[in-house]
Amino acid sequence: MVKKVVRASLVSSASIALLAGCTVTEPNNNIDKTVATNAPKNIIMVVADGMGPAYTTAYRNFVDDKNTPEIEKVVFDDILVGNASTHPAHVSGYVTDSAAAATALASGTKSYNGAIGVDVEMEPVNSVMHYAKGLGMRTGLAVTSQIVHATPASYIAHNESRKNYNDIANDFYDIKVNGEPVADVMLGGGTTYFKREDRDILAQFINDGYHYADSYENLADVPKGSNVIGLFAPVALPAVLDDVRKDRLAYLTKQAVRHLENDNGFFLLVEASQVDWAGHANDIGSAMAEMHDLAQTIEYLRGYVEDNPDTLVVLTADHSTGGLTIGAGGDYRWSPEHLHKMSASARTIAKGMVDNEMSAEYAAEKLGLSLTSDELAMLDSVSDQDEETRYSAIKSFLDVKTNTGWTTSGHTGVDVEVFAFGAGYTSFIGQIDNTDIAKKIFGLLEEKSVSKPVL
Ligand SMILES: [Zn+2]
Repeated sequence: MVKKVVRASLVSSASIALLAGCTVTEPNNNIDKTVATNAPKNIIMVVADGMGPAYTTAYRNFVDDKNTPEIEKVVFDDILVGNASTHPAHVSGYVTDSAAAATALASGTKSYNGAIGVDVEMEPVNSVMHYAKGLGMRTGLAVTSQIVHATPASYIAHNESRKNYNDIANDFYDIKVNGEPVADVMLGGGTTYFKREDRDILAQFINDGYHYADSYENLADVPKGSNVIGLFAPVALPAVLDDVRKDRLAYLTKQAVRHLENDNGFFLLVEASQVDWAGHANDIGSAMAEMHDLAQTIEYLRGYVEDNPDTLVVLTADHSTGGLTIGAGGDYRWSPEHLHKMSASARTIAKGMVDNEMSAEYAAEKLGLSLTSDELAMLDSVSDQDEETRYSAIKSFLDVKTNTGWTTSGHTGVDVEVFAFGAGYTSFIGQIDNTDIAKKIFGLLEEKSVSKPVL
């Protein structure tokens, strides 16, 4: 272990140039050997689902202190190292979904849209988490979606379709590495898939010695170093604007690390799952709130790596969602300050309006805005419409207020940013492909040990 720390501190500018400059990948083996000079003890992979470059720029503007002349840097600015292409296997064209992208990030293999840990022939491909577990590291995930959703699923399961949540949940228990489930720690949502009429997977985990936590408070009580399955919602966690914890991802990440730390090191997958969902909904209020949840997580991880310099953190997105634009309609203006005081998500406000006699005033209060009589009249005019209409009206209202634009309710094919810090981060510098991220992690893991995973 000491050896690794020494190595991490000996990265010369020559080796940085070497690492950044050339990529040699073995055929039929997704291991990038060029990284093998300063392998980290622990690896934390963070995926911000849907976070294209417009989201990080928007977030910087969103938290900007308007009383100062400069636009302050945010936590992402100091850790940017490059850019990744995101396209799926050719059969699915240029625009990826989260499943193909997660399979690429997890296993280094391009696949078709919808694929969970399988290649274009639907053959299983193993992930960096399988590999880490095989090397005797502890493994875990902390996400804000249901834990069987595309991104975490691709690190553990093999399925021809992301929609087969129950089968994917079965894989979480049934796929064994060295006789144990792939992940030692699983935090997120999804009791629906683990406690079913046909099978109680939760009971199986508990029977095998996993602690079960069903609330954030219970999770804090689990003794350090435990195997844990923490499911805090039937499906996904609430939007962060509606959650009891406004730092829920940072909290879950912290808790996961507490259980994973050990002498052999750990691999942890963290996902800010709901940036994407805000993008699909074209909901700028939730987009910025989910970004803030992620930013707090990265701030925690910056501190963690300061104290544990033998840890690597890599952050990227799987794709961009919604075609978010900062400014719209030919107007050179973006006014994110109107989003600062929201105390519920647009969806929850839309729901709540119906139970409220003064529904326009209720919406204004939850939005944290003092509205003109015209604005109140507009909200009043939709108050007796159905929930979807009210939801759309609130989102459009915020788009007009902030001058936010959207071009799609789906994904876009733009490259995404890559951020990395800690031991071995130089391996990720430059223009790379999403599959390179897995290949480099495989390379760093291989450097940790010559022993092969039992799969
Ligand atoms: Zn999506």
